[in-house]
Amino acid sequence: ARELGVGRLVYSSSSSVVGDQDTHVVREDMSPRPVSPYALQKLMGEQYAGMFARLFGLSAVSLRYFNVYGPRQLTEGAYALVIGKFIRQKQQGETLTVYGDGEQTRAYTYVSDVVRANVLAAQRPLEPGSHLVLNIGTTVETSVNAVAARVGGDVRHVIPNPRGHLEELRKVADNAKAAEALGWRPEVDFEEGMR
Ligand code: UDP
Repeated sequence: ARELGVGRLVYSSSSSVVGDQDTHVVREDMSPRPVSPYALQKLMGEQYAGMFARLFGLSAVSLRYFNVYGPRQLTEGAYALVIGKFIRQKQQGETLTVYGDGEQTRAYTYVSDVVRANVLAAQRPLEPGSHLVLNIGTTVETSVNAVAARVGGDVRHVIPNPRGHLEELRKVADNAKAAEALGWRPEVDFEEGMR
């Protein structure tokens, strides 16, 4: 990027970098406490983005995505998220596998909102050498039980939760910083996105 004179790097980060915290409302200024190798390497990616911006005079924006879903989402494999997986299970006539009691919550964020955040992040004027970290997620908590109910069909609770200590029980975004820095707010709510 430096050799080609790229001015702006937009890095796809993850809400998982903040990890284990006392509160479920995630802010960007919390000390990161990743609880998985995936989250740790996402945090390192942010640090590389910030370092390369400082060293080489480009500017970087790290967008911490929260549970992105929508068209072309993965429906199987290790990186499929729960909405894609449940839709595939339903299509194949399988029972939806809700882990634990299903009361875990996430800020499910529709892909078109995430795309718009990327475009805004690419275009925003920034000083050379600077690095912005922004939450890109909704402020609405939705449980796995609610996802399963919306997808519809038979549910099986997998107990104990196979995620064990890797599970984050409640998580939702504070997205005020993205609103201030980019004028970004999610526009597609869960019901519309699922439809
Ligand atoms: N989940 C579930 N059944 C599955 C897969 C996931 O109940 O077959 C739950 C999981 O325990 C978590 C939520 O769905 O609470 C979101 O999981 P996902 O992997 O989509 O995202 P992440 O945990 O990385 O936020």
